[in-house]
Amino acid sequence: MGDPTLRVCALYPDLLNIYADRGNLLLLERRCAWRGIGFEVTSASLGDGLDPGAHDLFYIGGGQDRDQRLCAQDMVDTKRDALHAAADRGAVVLAVCGGYQLLGHAYELEDERIPGVGLVDLHTVREAGPRLIGNVAIELELPGIDGPRVLAGFENHAGRTHLGAGERPLGRVLRGHGNTGASAFEGVRRGNVIGTYLHGPLLPKNAWFADWLIATATGAAEALEPLDDRLEDAAHAGARRAAGV
Ligand code: GLN
Repeated sequence: MGDPTLRVCALYPDLLNIYADRGNLLLLERRCAWRGIGFEVTSASLGDGLDPGAHDLFYIGGGQDRDQRLCAQDMVDTKRDALHAAADRGAVVLAVCGGYQLLGHAYELEDERIPGVGLVDLHTVREAGPRLIGNVAIELELPGIDGPRVLAGFENHAGRTHLGAGERPLGRVLRGHGNTGASAFEGVRRGNVIGTYLHGPLLPKNAWFADWLIATATGAAEALEPLDDRLEDAAHAGARRAAGV
């Protein structure tokens, strides 16, 4: 087997990139490069089809309602089937905030329904009440990682996301609002399909999670080579402190 390469497909990087969510891709790129793991990123925007077998990790960032409106129907029309096929073969899908909402059945606003691709059983409703904003920390367990770990970041969403009965959240809220502000849960994880409200960007503040994604997406049989993570650890500690954890 040749050297591993992480093949990433970024969906709508021109439209879904709020809070510098593109930093997540940079972090993946750097951590692969530092270890001699190849990294390829392809983007797929409006009108572009997807090859479900050509990528190990599909990434969807966050966006304002108006940007989600622009992408949603296109995602259903040109990318839904490929995303389902990719998820079925175990590809990683990481979706943040606006992208997370589009993984479900729909994002419902007052008199409007923004469709989702139905990759997971959830729906999002823009209910009355304040936006859910602030620093957030969640506790989660992931396959192959001993014990619970913490993700820390920042959330800002008006939508409240309700998981179907068969879905599991990504984690438990330690501080912040999470999916609904009242459920005590944050995000969703079905196998390698992950949705979360955490911006930050998420991965620079949680390098351990980036490594889990890289290992999972590339099918790395052995643990990834450790890196000098002094800066990354400080970023993680700072994000946790900001959330009060
Ligand atoms: N527009 C969505 C909401 O407000 C998502 C926002 C985001 O990606 N930060 O709920």
